[in-house]
Amino acid sequence: MKTQVVIVGSGPSGLLLGQLLHNQGIDTLILEKHAREHVLSRIRAGVLEQVTVDLLREANVAGRMDREGDVHEGFDIVFAGRRERLDLKRLTNGKTVMVYGQTELTLDLMEAREAAGAKTIYQARNVHLNDIDSDAPSVSFEAGGKTVTVHCDYIAGCDGYHGVCRQSIPDGVLQSFERVYPFGWLGVLSRTPPVSPELIYANHERGFALCSMRSQSLSRYYLQVSLDDNIDDWSDQCFWDELRTRLPAQVATSLVTGPSIEKSIAPLRSFVVEPMQFGRLFLLGDAAHIVPPTGAKGLNLAASDVSTLYRILLAVFREGRTELLEQYSPICLSRIWKAERFSWWMTSMLHRFPGDDFGSRIQMAELDYLLDSEAGKITIAENYVGLPFEPLE
Ligand code: FAD
Repeated sequence: MKTQVVIVGSGPSGLLLGQLLHNQGIDTLILEKHAREHVLSRIRAGVLEQVTVDLLREANVAGRMDREGDVHEGFDIVFAGRRERLDLKRLTNGKTVMVYGQTELTLDLMEAREAAGAKTIYQARNVHLNDIDSDAPSVSFEAGGKTVTVHCDYIAGCDGYHGVCRQSIPDGVLQSFERVYPFGWLGVLSRTPPVSPELIYANHERGFALCSMRSQSLSRYYLQVSLDDNIDDWSDQCFWDELRTRLPAQVATSLVTGPSIEKSIAPLRSFVVEPMQFGRLFLLGDAAHIVPPTGAKGLNLAASDVSTLYRILLAVFREGRTELLEQYSPICLSRIWKAERFSWWMTSMLHRFPGDDFGSRIQMAELDYLLDSEAGKITIAENYVGLPFEPLE
């Protein structure tokens, strides 16, 4: 078998890259370890930056998102009895974010790929990358009881944090940077109307809370919990009681509760590898970096890597500009580190760190200072809606 670009992983980064390249007549094959239904069952991100929305429109996959997604012009921060709205639209000269679930986005991308006749092989086992530092790389995998080898020009590693692509790079090439936080997020998805039309981020003395949503009838709530907590110890009733405690009284009284349809605890971490390229292999999205979800950046960073690699590959295939390939990693990392900084900062400012009373007072002072200052509010808002994509040259 032969194709121009093998894409490993059919999460948002692999599917979006595949769609953009396919639209330009560049042949791709996506290899996905899991079944289609499994990929679609993962409840994850929900807030899309303006630049991500624009990229989805460029890929011609934005029809349903534009009809059913919710444009948000602001969000609230609550702390120490104060509730402050950040008017994103006003603070950023008209920019907004789109609330549209990652599951829905993934479905739209899968359907667009199927309609275009581009090939995805699900349940591809034992994916193995060969000769990635040569001019003739290939990828082998097992499917339907056979071992298949696909020869290609380039490989896009879109296979997430636990994938095979980053691990295929020889020891000593990559440098990794990591920060692990001493708490996790307990998330609940419920078929109930959101407590507020916009997101609410709360710094409470018992810990962080976030009121988010996926649609007008689907709510997503999170609580900061200890890493020692066990999901079985959190009944739905316990979750709702604790959430009410961490919200302002007028919000808590209007909270509509219901049975959880998904409940999980996720640890929080920051992680980056440098460089994001080795030979003809490029790492994208969670394969190369992780952010704590407080800044809503994970999926959006995956989209910005896609934008960069797509534009570079287009110039390579159309104009033979192979010198651009080595620009991939520095261009991506410049934007990634800014989003890493914002996600770390929002996490540090809004969560309670066990035993750090001094830190808690500093958080209150910082929030008071930032939210009393137009410049402070702009700093939060322009990062939240997303910094512009880095130019290619
Ligand atoms: P992924 O979505 O991880 O996709 C990788 C794909 O590769 C998967 O389909 C996987 O099955 C496949 N794969 C893995 N290994 C192999 C292999 N060996 N061979 C073939 N295929 C393979 N971000 C936010 O912005 N906000 C949030 O609220 C948020 N919540 C999250 C909650 C959870 C529990 C998690 C895990 C992540 C969350 N994120 C959130 C992050 C966001 O979902 C990710 O940043 C985003 O999914 C990255 O997309 P990706 O395509 O790079 O990777």
